[in-house]
Amino acid sequence: MLGKLQGWSDTIAALATPQGIGAIGVIRVSGKEAINIVNDLFPSKDLEKQPSHTLHVGYLKDGDKTIDEVVISLFVAPKSYTGENVIEISCHGSHYVQQQIMHALSNHGARLAKPGEFTQRAFLNGKLDLAQAEAVADLIASNTEASKRTALKHMRGGFSGILKELRDQLIKFSALIELELDFSQEDVEFADRIGLLTLLESIEKQVTQLLQSFALGNVIKNGVQVAIIGKPNAGKSTLLNTLLNEERAIVSDIAGTTRDTIEETLNIDGILFRLIDTAGIREHTSDIIESIGVERSLEKMREADVVVYLFDVNETSPEDLKSIVEEFENKHIKYLLIGNKADLQPLETYASKFNEIPRIIFISARENRGIDSLKRQLFVHAIGNNNLMDDTVVTNARHVEALEKIRQSLQDIIEGLNNKIPGDLLALDIRRCLHYLGEITGEITNEDQLDYIFSKFCIGK
Ligand code: GDP
Repeated sequence: MLGKLQGWSDTIAALATPQGIGAIGVIRVSGKEAINIVNDLFPSKDLEKQPSHTLHVGYLKDGDKTIDEVVISLFVAPKSYTGENVIEISCHGSHYVQQQIMHALSNHGARLAKPGEFTQRAFLNGKLDLAQAEAVADLIASNTEASKRTALKHMRGGFSGILKELRDQLIKFSALIELELDFSQEDVEFADRIGLLTLLESIEKQVTQLLQSFALGNVIKNGVQVAIIGKPNAGKSTLLNTLLNEERAIVSDIAGTTRDTIEETLNIDGILFRLIDTAGIREHTSDIIESIGVERSLEKMREADVVVYLFDVNETSPEDLKSIVEEFENKHIKYLLIGNKADLQPLETYASKFNEIPRIIFISARENRGIDSLKRQLFVHAIGNNNLMDDTVVTNARHVEALEKIRQSLQDIIEGLNNKIPGDLLALDIRRCLHYLGEITGEITNEDQLDYIFSKFCIGK
C-alpha cells in the first residue's frame, strides 16, 4: 500500500502553528531527507551527527542570508510522530520569517505538505491506526472538556482496543472453521457451534452498545441544540441573559465548518448547549403578530434536540399547561417545563397550583433562583445515564456506518449457524464481518478513502 501513495517518498514541510503573528511559530519537516535539508540551512552544527530527541539553537541561513535565530528539535526515524526523520523548527512568530523559511526549505528539496499528511504518514507507518488518527483531528477541533476527553481516549486507542478484541475473537473461530474446510471429506467439526453462537451474540451486544453510544458521541462532539420558547413576557430574554452571564462558552472557529448564524452557547460541565435563534428571543415580540411568533416557534422546535418551555407561573393556568404538555407529547418533542417568576409568592403555592403536572422546575430568571437545577436537568437530558468518564463512545459517522455493517454481518452469521449452513458459507460471512471491522481501524482501506479522511485535517498536522 505504501508505495502506491503519490509523493510518499517526498520530504514534506509545513507551518504547524496558526498563521499570523505570535511569540513563536513551529515549522515541521518530515521525510528521509528532512535532516539533510535542514542541515544545509543550519551552518552552526552538523545535525546529521546529533542524537535523536535533542534541541539545537543557532542561526538559519539561506546561503549568505541570515533568516532567523531558531531552535531545532531533532527526531530520528523511526522514533517520531510520523515514523520518519522529523525536524521541528521553532522560529519567531512573524509571517515574513516563516515564509522565508518555507521558501528556503522548498529550494532545498522539501515540498509543502498536504492537509493531514503528517498524520497520514504516521498512520501508514503504523504509529497510529485509522481510528486513532481521526481522533487527532477531533482533538484539534474539540472545544469542551468532554469532547477533548473522548478524543484523547480514542487517540490513545481505547476504541481501537475494543475493536481489536472483537476481531481477535472472531479470527480464532474463523481459523477453526477454515480448518474444517481442509478436512471437508471427513465431515468433522472442530469449531464448537454453540460456543460460536454465544460469542457472536456477545459481540453483537457490544457492537449494538457502541452504536447506541453514537447519540452521546454526537452530543459530546457537536453539542445539544436547545430552543427556549414561551409566550411573550414569559421571561425568555431574562433567562437567556442569566444563563449567558454565568456560563457563556468560548467557541473557536473550527476549520471546515461555516456558521451562517451567530449562536449563543453554554458550557455546562463540559457539554456544549447551542441556543437556537437567540436573536429572535432578544427581539421585542409585542409588535409581531401572534401567528408569525407561532410559526417561528414551531420551526425552532423542529430544529431542537430539547425544548425549554418557559411559562409565567402567575399567569398560566394548569389547564393551559396541560394542553401544551399534550401537544409536546403528541409531536414527540423532548421538553423541559420551566415555571418562571416563582418569586412573587411562596414556592409551595406554585407547587400546589401545578401539582398534577410532573417535573416542573420552578425558577426566577430575574433573581437567579433555580438556575442550577435547570442546568442540571439540561445536562442529564443530554447524557442520560451514561458515564462520561468511563464509557467508550463512538463519535465518528464513518465508524457508525462500518459498525452497522458489522452488526448486519454478525446477524447473517448467527442466522447461518441457526440454519446449519455449510462451513464454507459460514467462513465467507465471518470474513466479511472481519473486513468491516478492519475498515474502522484501517487494516483494510483504499487510497480514496484515506485521502478523504486526511483531507479534513489542517495543513501541518
Ligand atoms: P420575554 O418576552 O419572554 O423575552 O420576556 P422578558 O425576559 O422580556 O421579561 C418580561 C418581563 O418579565 C420583564 O419585565 C422582566 O423583568 C420580567 N421578568 C422576567 N423574569 C422574571 C422573574 O423571574 N421574576 C419576575 N418577577 N419578573 C420577571
